Amino acid sequence: MAKRKNAKPSKLVPGKGVERRVKPWNEAEIGEAFSRFQKANPAPKGELLHKDAFTLLVAVVLSAQATDAGVNKATPALFEAADTPAKMASLGEAKIRDYIKTIGLYRTKAKNVLALSEKLLAEFGGKVPDNHEALESLPGVGRKTANVVMNIAFGEPTIAVDTHIFRVSNRTGLAPGKNVLEVELGLLKRVPERFKLHAHHWLILHGRYTCIARKPLCPVCVVRDLCRFKDKTKELPPEKPKAVTKSSKMKISKR
Ligand code: SF4
Repeated sequence: MAKRKNAKPSKLVPGKGVERRVKPWNEAEIGEAFSRFQKANPAPKGELLHKDAFTLLVAVVLSAQATDAGVNKATPALFEAADTPAKMASLGEAKIRDYIKTIGLYRTKAKNVLALSEKLLAEFGGKVPDNHEALESLPGVGRKTANVVMNIAFGEPTIAVDTHIFRVSNRTGLAPGKNVLEVELGLLKRVPERFKLHAHHWLILHGRYTCIARKPLCPVCVVRDLCRFKDKTKELPPEKPKAVTKSSKMKISKR
């Protein structure tokens, strides 16, 4: 993969339970793990509601340091009012802010959504560009957002590393690394091509619903026998777990 500008290591550092590097999985273990993710969930999807590349871009920008569920509460009304760069630019900052005020950092995000819409109109013919460099030139869009948009909207086999993927990669032995960039590059090198397109979603869903930060649901984990995490849980929490890896029973926007 070509090295891109702006490729700065994120400040995300290994958290609880991933302080020690584990022995990386070998090729056979990686293939086996992804075969199981694929069997459990053959067509994984992201959880951010969107209609097209533009609304996806806006949703991903809004999701920084916020949950997808929180973003999904605000975006239907926002996209009803403005689902194109031109409509978003006409809406203006104050109204955008009003629609997204339940989302953290909404003031900055409203500025960015307006500015990126204006830039799309001025420099990209009102279309979301399909390359990393152009995407990362947009206000509020960094490496992770560009990776998500390239993967979901344009089908590029990129892997955007968020807190869930970072944790899963370190705990299991899939792609141990001390920062987000190291993990991302490790994943791109180690995940077999046939699994790369969906790897991002499989790993996010696994981290979000099974390999959760505190008390992962190891007893129902499909890669339990392969996983190198030394503090695996032996029992499920008393309350019913939300889901296991096949957990995409959620509202999913159609692309
Ligand atoms: S066994 Fe536990 S720690 Fe390992 S991947 Fe599964 S849920 Fe995570």
